[in-house]
Amino acid sequence: MIAQRLAPFGTTIFTEMTLLANKHGAVNLAQGFPDFDGPSFFLDAAAEALQGGQNQYARMFGLPALNRALADRWQRATGAEIDPDAQVTVTSGCTEAIAAAMLGLVNPGDEVILFEPFYDSYRASVAMAGGVPRFVTLREPTGAPRDGLAAPGAFWFDPDELRRAFSDRTRLILINTPHNPTGKVFTREELTLAADLCTRNNAIALTDEVYEHLTYEPDQPHIRMATLPGMAERTLTLSSLGKTFSLTGWKIGWAIGTPDLTRAVRAAHQFLTFATATPLQAAAASALARTDDCDHAIGSLVADLKAARGLLAGALARLGFGVHIPAGAYFILADFTRRPGALRPDNVPDDAAFCRSLPAAAGVAAVPPSVFYQNRGLGAGLVRFAFCKRPATLHEAVRRLGVWATDRRADQ
Ligand code: GLN
Repeated sequence: MIAQRLAPFGTTIFTEMTLLANKHGAVNLAQGFPDFDGPSFFLDAAAEALQGGQNQYARMFGLPALNRALADRWQRATGAEIDPDAQVTVTSGCTEAIAAAMLGLVNPGDEVILFEPFYDSYRASVAMAGGVPRFVTLREPTGAPRDGLAAPGAFWFDPDELRRAFSDRTRLILINTPHNPTGKVFTREELTLAADLCTRNNAIALTDEVYEHLTYEPDQPHIRMATLPGMAERTLTLSSLGKTFSLTGWKIGWAIGTPDLTRAVRAAHQFLTFATATPLQAAAASALARTDDCDHAIGSLVADLKAARGLLAGALARLGFGVHIPAGAYFILADFTRRPGALRPDNVPDDAAFCRSLPAAAGVAAVPPSVFYQNRGLGAGLVRFAFCKRPATLHEAVRRLGVWATDRRADQ
């Protein structure tokens, strides 16, 4: 029954793996959601809004107080003053913002440049808009001091491959930084090259910055594409509350850009969801206005996540995985092909088979990264673990993986 546009995409891997994790009582390091609650001042604000009668439709493009709070945050982060009513659109999570941006900006046949591996909704959103995806590969670091324009040890792309991806049919390039699933934080040099190519080809930069605050290396800060020279005019910046405040279920996202770009997003947003849950918008507005509390909450989340990254990365390395240390976001990509039993009899790694067996075999769930690649083979030796979890959860996952690894060795 599924229409041709969407048939190729099946059921998202997050749904599949969370169902499998629940079925086997596995520790779920697959879908990226925290197993702890967001800051209490957000939760209290939500209860207050619900009880305070804020329960009818919000304004289509966002509750005025939330648009204002987001514009204020933007000004603090970038120094640029924006019009909250003409340049900010509140959406139902960043995933809706991505779909609304594609539907609002891309004509059938327009080309959209995506970096692979990509978050799974990107391709589906391009397809829903009738766009044609062009892929640029983020490659596994080889250990060379610096690959391409990337930070040392980071996934990297060949600048010529990016140049070749642009054409006079390019409508936009979607850049996700910090990047899911690689943990890469795009450098200023990388963004500058993309910015120059956008300008030269009259293309739009669409950025997914949901992990904007989750970076762990002081020398690899998050850089907003919209702050590069000339790019405020052609960048649509998307983000959300979910990752920054551990409120993924609130589904509060937004798009920030010029009035023209904003009109395009709203043209689609109004017919997708019309508006986003009013009490949660009201809560977000009043909580975001408490800027010191927000900064404090983010600081402590980043410290916790940095410790979680260390815990999981160290344990995976001891178990024999080849670990890529992420500079941002909350996922670790690990090469599992050196693990016993990782290869099929024909010597081919298969991350999907590995991840489908892991919940029952080890009591831990992870995501097979090949689903994030057009060229699936590039992800077939990798596995993605989420570390946005309490220390007790990670310790239990590590303990189970340790038992499983010992059993595997005994079986060999
Ligand atoms: N962004 C989350 C992840 O990558 C999942 C989002 C979702 O489940 N749709 O794990």
